[in-house]
Amino acid sequence: MDWGLAGRTAVVTGAAAGIGHGVATELVQAGARVFGVDLSWPDETDELEMDRLTIDVSAREAVHKAVARVVAETGEVAVLVNCAGITRARDDMFEYDDVDWRAVLDINATGLFYCLQAAAEHMVKRGDGAIVNISSIAGRNGRGLSIPYAAAKAAVINITRSTALELAPKGVRVNAVAPGAIDTEFNRRLGAQFGPRQGLSVDEYVEKLAERVPMGRLGTPQDVARVICFLASPFSGYVTGQTINVDGGILMD
Ligand code: NAD
Repeated sequence: MDWGLAGRTAVVTGAAAGIGHGVATELVQAGARVFGVDLSWPDETDELEMDRLTIDVSAREAVHKAVARVVAETGEVAVLVNCAGITRARDDMFEYDDVDWRAVLDINATGLFYCLQAAAEHMVKRGDGAIVNISSIAGRNGRGLSIPYAAAKAAVINITRSTALELAPKGVRVNAVAPGAIDTEFNRRLGAQFGPRQGLSVDEYVEKLAERVPMGRLGTPQDVARVICFLASPFSGYVTGQTINVDGGILMD
């Protein structure tokens, strides 16, 4: 699809898998130069033409160095898509310790902000840029068994609004998507953790997730990636500070 981003530079975090990989694929196909950021890369990398940077988004200095390298190599960061994220689901709220709490907040909220800060610094100098963050419908509604995750994803909605306000006069837009249940390893890992206790295989657990979706199916990484690309593209040039649900109709607000 032509997103109007051919020849532009995009940084996509969490690009080794799932939604981030879907976004990288869309952007490469649209002719953008994509720098993927992730903790590690599969041994058998696919043939996607993407520069692969091995970085933890919660390591502030490494993030700033990586963005500086991208700018030195291509002259810009036109698009940043913050997909990197984790969850630590627990049986009840009393099981969360400091390690769980900090890991989820550090990566999903603080790390996302480090990436946003580093990219925005360069975007502001050029007077243009688009940033898209991934929240979750858990960040709107709350979610039992995933308390730090839901808190971090709520923070992402607010970081999106606050940075959008500050950057709007400087030509930089910031938006977010709130996915529902998307068919990636993220949910399969939850299926491996909780499925057996409910007498369900991982496949059955994932199928059950689809039952609460009005559209009757899980989302695909591409379903989310295309909304992200719209928000990253000039086609949404008058949209900022918004969080769009991409959830097959679970939430309607
Ligand atoms: P995924 O686990 O398939 O992919 C996440 C990627 O992020 C992985 O490649 C992982 O290595 C990377 N990552 C994790 N920690 C990182 C770090 N510290 N630094 C750099 N990279 C890191 O998950 P996904 O389903 O593709 O999820 C992508 C985003 O969408 C996450 O933020 C997730 O919270 C959010 N989300 C997912 C769903 C869903 O149903 N799958 C729903 C709502 C929101």
